[in-house]
Amino acid sequence: MQTWVFAEEIDGAPTSLTLEMLSKARTFGGDLAAVYLGAGSDAAFATLGAHGATRVFHLASGEGLPAPAATAALATLIADHQPDLLLFGLAFTDRDVAGRLSARLDRPVLANAVDIVPADGAVRVVNEILGGTTLVETAYRGPKPWIAVVRPKSFAAEAGAAATPEVIPVALPDVGHAGAAAVLERHAEVSEGPDLGEAAVVVAAGRGVGGAEKMGPITELAALLGAAVGGTRAVVDAGWLAYSLQVGQTGKTVRPSVYIAAGVSGAMQHVVGMKDSGTIIAVNKDEEAPIFRIADLGIVGDLHKVLPKLVEELRARR
Ligand SMILES: Cc1cc2nc3c(=O)[nH]c(=O)nc-3n(C[C@H](O)[C@H](O)[C@H](O)COP(=O)(O)OP(=O)(O)OC[C@H]3O[C@@H](n4cnc5c(N)ncnc54)[C@H](O)[C@@H]3O)c2cc1C
Repeated sequence: MQTWVFAEEIDGAPTSLTLEMLSKARTFGGDLAAVYLGAGSDAAFATLGAHGATRVFHLASGEGLPAPAATAALATLIADHQPDLLLFGLAFTDRDVAGRLSARLDRPVLANAVDIVPADGAVRVVNEILGGTTLVETAYRGPKPWIAVVRPKSFAAEAGAAATPEVIPVALPDVGHAGAAAVLERHAEVSEGPDLGEAAVVVAAGRGVGGAEKMGPITELAALLGAAVGGTRAVVDAGWLAYSLQVGQTGKTVRPSVYIAAGVSGAMQHVVGMKDSGTIIAVNKDEEAPIFRIADLGIVGDLHKVLPKLVEELRARR
């Protein structure tokens, strides 16, 4: 099977999501290529190779919005090389290109995949519904290429291949007015501490914290543990945390080794973004709170009493 992974660049390197998809696709056997959108560099291509890409189609993006031109270039590459399966990540440009390609090639897109299962010459795409409580498997029946959009953190990014990939530069075609919009400014959200999506430990605040001015125990605990701070939508809507720190269905999906949920009820839309964490620790004053159903360790109590004790204990051990 010939699999292509749409690869995006951030700060001069492939995104983690790209490497997660390549690591998974490497297990399919067959031919694996990356379609890399970005400035590109030997180091970036080597990283793609280390994660399994034997070929890299390099689409050098300029200042214009990349999706229309990338779609046109990809459509030509597909006609020339006939890949079987195209994997896109659940990210902005990926989704844009996948949607455009679907319309252009007249192929369906299976989105929100948490697993991709090739078997007997077919491919099944696995989705979670009802807050991750039910898995749905869908198989493609129409002509190839099959297109899937994969959720972040569905797979671990693991280097393991030794190959230096063949890099094939691909010119982005002129797509006229469709590509005329340009990116004028980029704004990087400044946050302290580790990145929420990559952190090994996350301390998450829920509405039970009680106010922006009461976030002290959350941020202190996170600082002592070297953890990232996250939160529920209730906390973000109240303006206590930035949207970039929201965990859940309409926020980020995280998979840390330890997830500490404080004053979080455990609504389905939150749980779907953190349930695959290694050890889940919940602090909630309501012993009936649904978060306790998925917690490995539950503490029934007021977080403003429990967390300061934990902070005190951690400080004493330093
Ligand atoms: C389409 C859609 C998308 C959504 N997307 C998301 C999403 O991405 N992420 C998300 O989080 N939510 C999302 N939501 C909202 C979600 O349904 C919940 O409303 C939200 O997660 C609740 O946040 P919470 O747990 O902080 O608040 P609440 O549900 O109000 O829970 C607060 C909890 O704090 C406890 N508590 C109160 N005081 C204390 C204290 N002193 N000490 C300890 N515990 C205390 C209470 O017992 C309670 O369990 C979405 C909803 C919809 C409809």
